[in-house]
Amino acid sequence: MRPRPGDHRDNRFFWEGVRRGELLIQRCAECGRLRHPPSPMCPSCRSLAADAVKASGRGTVYSYCRPHEPRLPGFDPGYVVALVELAEGTRLVTNLIGIDPAEVRIGLPVAVEFVAVDPDLTLPMFRPLRD
Ligand code: ZN
Repeated sequence: MRPRPGDHRDNRFFWEGVRRGELLIQRCAECGRLRHPPSPMCPSCRSLAADAVKASGRGTVYSYCRPHEPRLPGFDPGYVVALVELAEGTRLVTNLIGIDPAEVRIGLPVAVEFVAVDPDLTLPMFRPLRD
């Protein structure tokens, strides 16, 4: 079984959004700066007030790797871990789907897809955008 993401008050909104099929980005309620991963304090203005905005779900591959060892339960061999830069400017660690790992490139346009990896866990993953 795939490891579960951490669940705490700072990121709960994110995972609740994922369960609804929405990719959310934390936003400072004072200065409006977007940030990810969710955290309790704005790094710009130190405000503790935050809300969230719905992301477009579009982005590009900022970086990626193809882990080979150790083999981890819940991960199929050949999976791709990517750092995706969203159109809104924040980045998140995710997996790429629907692409031969040898074809992954930095700058590749991608779009979010919500994947049920098991009955109790849905994860936001990214699929290459085709013309
Ligand atoms: Zn702020």
